[in-house]
Amino acid sequence: MISEKQQKIIESIFYRLVAIRSDTNTIYEPIIEDVILNWFREREYFQENPEYFGAEPLEDDVYRRDVVWALVKGEGAETIVLIHHHDAVGIEEYGNLEDMAFRPDELKDALKGRVKKKDVLRDIQDDDWIFGRGTADMKSGAALQMGIVDHFSKQQDFNGNLLILSVPDEETISKGMLQGVKLLHKLHQKYGLNYKLAINSEPYFNNVRDKALFYEGSVGKVMPIIYAKGISSHISNPYNGISPSMIMANIQRRTELNPSLCDVHENDATPPPMWVHLKDHKKVYDASIPEAAVGFFNWLTFVKEPREILEALKEFAKEAVTETLVFVDGSYEAFCEMNHQDYDPIDYTPVILDFEEAYQRAKEDGGERFEKQYEKTLFLLKQDFKDNKVTLPELAVKLIALTGDYINIDEPVVIIGLSGPYYPHINNKNIIGEDLKLEERLNKITKKYYDFQFQKNEYFMGMSDLSYCGFTGKSEDIDVIKRNSPGWDEVYRIPFEAMQALNMKVVNIGPWGKDLHQRSERVYGPDVFQRIPTIIKELIEEVLAGDEKSARVG
Ligand SMILES: [Zn+2]
Repeated sequence: MISEKQQKIIESIFYRLVAIRSDTNTIYEPIIEDVILNWFREREYFQENPEYFGAEPLEDDVYRRDVVWALVKGEGAETIVLIHHHDAVGIEEYGNLEDMAFRPDELKDALKGRVKKKDVLRDIQDDDWIFGRGTADMKSGAALQMGIVDHFSKQQDFNGNLLILSVPDEETISKGMLQGVKLLHKLHQKYGLNYKLAINSEPYFNNVRDKALFYEGSVGKVMPIIYAKGISSHISNPYNGISPSMIMANIQRRTELNPSLCDVHENDATPPPMWVHLKDHKKVYDASIPEAAVGFFNWLTFVKEPREILEALKEFAKEAVTETLVFVDGSYEAFCEMNHQDYDPIDYTPVILDFEEAYQRAKEDGGERFEKQYEKTLFLLKQDFKDNKVTLPELAVKLIALTGDYINIDEPVVIIGLSGPYYPHINNKNIIGEDLKLEERLNKITKKYYDFQFQKNEYFMGMSDLSYCGFTGKSEDIDVIKRNSPGWDEVYRIPFEAMQALNMKVVNIGPWGKDLHQRSERVYGPDVFQRIPTIIKELIEEVLAGDEKSARVG
């Protein structure tokens, strides 16, 4: 078990980290980075080995954020990597309790008279639950990982190495971990580290006390952008046009919450897609049918690759446009009958393109003018993105709409592109290498000290930085993503090659947390200060002990 002294160290840094505001993608993040870096600087081990810790700046970052890292160097090359993020979501949810979001005790008192939910009230009465922004997600994980590193830094002969990465921006687009991947590569070269396992400590979600969950992977997320161009017409003459809004509505109806789009892997299924944006793309107000409409949504994945998602969406788009045309034609026929007019069937051929095809088409139709305009727009958007004035999906929408504008076709057109942030799914089953028998090992450790069960789940469902600890897709998948994501490599890039080279197993073992991102966010104290650090510490010892000791396991 982790010593009482180590437990106190974890408790003290945990409350310090919670007290420091670190809203994601803001100027607050560098402040907490300084605190974490200084904490390592004060440790005896790092005073003796100042080359073993540091801050790696993010490239092109307006807030000058860093990945803070520290390495405890033992014998040999085998290395375990601890990963956590030090940013947290904002505090708008707290309303007039905002200034208590970082003061757990005061917040707990203040919430007493304000919440009605039974389970929250029960936990308010329970001293083991700690409330506050970032308590669960994930200053608890940060603190317990730091405590574990501190523990190992005091060991004499220690087999293997332990590296910790504390990254910013996880709640935005994971810029921190994307930089972290490059840092891992650098440290591998400099110190000859051989990465065996990455341990993240995001909280687990559960309702019962005697069962904890760990995750041997992390769900993926793809964000398709759909742009529909209709046929413009004045509203007094509606049958002269085709509304892109109706096309989009039909695509949404076919995809949103459609259970056949859940990605199924063995006994689990992802939630079906959910649209997060849907809007017409009218440039000015007038009495005509909008010329275009645009929308985007999240598609969560266990095994499906973006290539398959694009293919599926093209099919849905085709059906949706056809459905729209049939409906408009039927309405027109009825209208003609009412007005005793001749009916001439409405006849269009829908054009469905992925972004790569649309870009080619625009180049053919718009020539150099299009290319120049595209370059110029991209250049300006790149600056806006750096200055935080535009988000990744907004930027992708602008580039797709510009491309759509240059396509010269008198038919309804649908363009399907992709936008970052892209989170590839990851799971140990698809990562080559030794089976670390994590479930067996974790349950053996918990049985030794505690009386709860550690249940294995294949995927952490909240999206996490583990997504970037490897890439198990094919190289053609990478090509499809790059070619269909406007702005790729210019504003947003994923170091796929470096990720592929990492090839380490992944696991998420964190404390029990509830209501993340809400004002009742809370974490289970005993997990933070004692149970999870003990379990991770022992797991690290077992995994790094190598074959001799692992032969004794199970
Ligand atoms: Zn998190």
